[in-house]
Amino acid sequence: MLARSPRAQRRDHLTRDDLRERITAAEVRREHLEQRRGITGEHAAASGRVKRAATATHEPQPPQPIVQRREHGKVKRHVNDHAILAMAERFRDSGHILRFIEYMDVGMTNGWRLDDVVSAEEIHRAIDAEWPLEPLRPHYPGEVASRYRYRDGAGEVGLIASVTQPFCGSCTRARLSADGKLHTCLFATRGHDLRDLMRRGATDHELAQHLRGIWGARADRYSEARTAQTPPLTKIEMSYNGG
Ligand code: SF4
Repeated sequence: MLARSPRAQRRDHLTRDDLRERITAAEVRREHLEQRRGITGEHAAASGRVKRAATATHEPQPPQPIVQRREHGKVKRHVNDHAILAMAERFRDSGHILRFIEYMDVGMTNGWRLDDVVSAEEIHRAIDAEWPLEPLRPHYPGEVASRYRYRDGAGEVGLIASVTQPFCGSCTRARLSADGKLHTCLFATRGHDLRDLMRRGATDHELAQHLRGIWGARADRYSEARTAQTPPLTKIEMSYNGG
C-alpha cells in the first residue's frame, strides 16, 4: 500500500532547478488544458477569492516545513495490520514522516466497521516495542497528529487517533468542493453554496462575512459522536470533497 512508485522515488532526487522547470512546464500544460476546456481565469480567481476570504477569518498560521514530506498510512484490521512495522521501517531514516491515521468511516462506500479500526495506541505499542519512541511537542496548537521521534535517531512518526481520540473541539477543517460547496466537517451531509453567492456578485468583504457566519455557527462533532451505528448516515464522499 505504501510502496513508493518509481516515479515518486525519482522525484526524491530532483534538485530545486528541476522542480522549478517541472512546475513551469506543468503550469503551461494546465493553462493549455484550461483553454481547451473553456476554464477561464474567472474560475481560478473564484477559488482564490474563497481561500483569501477564509484566511482572513483566521489568525496567521506559523510557517509549515516545506521540504520534509509527510506520507499517510491507514491500517485496517486483518488487511494490513501485519505490516505496521514494515510501513514504519520504510520511512525510518528516509527524511520523511509517516503518519498513521486510524481507519475512518468517510463517505458511504468503504464498508467501515468499528471492529476494523486498529487504534493509534495499538500502532504505537507495536512500533515502540521494536524501535522505542518518545513524544515530541506539536508544531502548533490543534495539530491532529501526535508526534514521536525514534530514540535511535531514525526520524519521526505520527499517529492520528481520529476515531479513538477525536479532536473535534480543536478542528479547523473546511473543504471546498469543485462545485463551490463549503463543507465544515469531513463527515458533512451537506455543504454551504458559495458559488451562487459569488455569481450574484458578492464582494470579498461580503464573502468573508458569510464565511465568518458559517464558521461561527459550526457545531460539527461527528467523530466525538461516532458509534458503530453512525456509518449508515448519508455523508459526502472524500473524493467529492477534495480527498
Ligand atoms: S469529525 Fe468533523 S469536526 Fe470532528 S475532527 Fe473530523 S472534520 Fe473536524
